[in-house]
Amino acid sequence: MISGLPDVRGSYTQGALLSDLTWFRVGGPADVLFQPADVADLQKFLKECPDDVPVTVVGVGSNLLVRDGGIGGVVIRLGRGFNQITCEGTRVTAGAAALDVMVAKAAQKAGIAGLEFYRGIPGTIGGALRMNAGSYGSETKDVLICARAVDDEGVLHEFSAADMGFTYRHSDIPENMIFIDAVFEGTLDDPEKILARMAKITDSREASQPVKSRTGGSTFKNPDPGASGGRKAWQLIDAAGCRGLTIGGAKVSEQHCNFLINEGTASAEDLETLGETVRARVSEDAGVNLQWEIRRIGKKL
Ligand SMILES: Cc1cc2nc3c(=O)[nH]c(=O)nc-3n(C[C@H](O)[C@H](O)[C@H](O)COP(=O)(O)OP(=O)(O)OC[C@H]3O[C@@H](n4cnc5c(N)ncnc54)[C@H](O)[C@@H]3O)c2cc1C
Repeated sequence: MISGLPDVRGSYTQGALLSDLTWFRVGGPADVLFQPADVADLQKFLKECPDDVPVTVVGVGSNLLVRDGGIGGVVIRLGRGFNQITCEGTRVTAGAAALDVMVAKAAQKAGIAGLEFYRGIPGTIGGALRMNAGSYGSETKDVLICARAVDDEGVLHEFSAADMGFTYRHSDIPENMIFIDAVFEGTLDDPEKILARMAKITDSREASQPVKSRTGGSTFKNPDPGASGGRKAWQLIDAAGCRGLTIGGAKVSEQHCNFLINEGTASAEDLETLGETVRARVSEDAGVNLQWEIRRIGKKL
């Protein structure tokens, strides 16, 4: 156990395997995993945690490649105390641990349109705020009113949508901020119509993406159209001959070649090496430098 960690009401788990907490199912252990009971517990922890202990926050690991050597210090994962969702008028308030899909469903039931795109994103609201998650032409920035976060001293902050500095799969909010909840705004609509749009999103995803595989979603950001001749990341990867490329237990998906897949035995090293190989081939083939969308964190073995 790391010495000097504060007394908390939530739980500490020593050596928690992060492969159990990520979609890729790879990654070494966290020195300590902390699951705070509620906001006050999280604030107390951050205020009293020794300064030399690194702190990393994760959602449900759908955009993470945790390296095989794991993560030093404390990894925070928000749980039950942070997953409430309430709907009022055209507004939805959701805790940072609420799954995007549950937020989409709650909005649909309340007859609030505009959050349907969350139906297909398998992360949490915390991850959506950090990544400006989006799909099917909508992004978090289009529906967010404000978000609250706690800094590394335990101080609470509120950010408007403009403060968030959102660009494509990015927010400017400093990495030491842990989001705790957010308010979204949609428009009133017939719940049946919203449901039909959500069903369309599910069908289209299942047809085009390996959503039931051990994957991290889109591996690389789509490049600036000016630099890539308008081609998306998957088109560049395909043109460079990387569809189906395999290293160890890691494979470029045949179905959607911007997705990497752990076929069962991949290490994080296999997946990262495969991603870097794809980047090198695309650079050689098209002169485009693909940028990782998946966040790679932790230590190599
Ligand atoms: C099959 C599949 C399909 C996907 N499709 C899409 C898609 O269509 N569109 C899209 O945008 N993404 C997509 N993704 C990627 C991923 O789901 C999103 O990026 C999602 O927002 C990540 O949320 P998460 O909770 O899993 O975060 P994690 O992957 O756990 O973390 C991602 C980042 O968010 C940070 N973070 C998490 N919680 C918090 C918090 N409370 N406070 C501060 N920072 C936090 C982490 O530190 C990390 O930097 C897909 C992934 C998969 C596996």
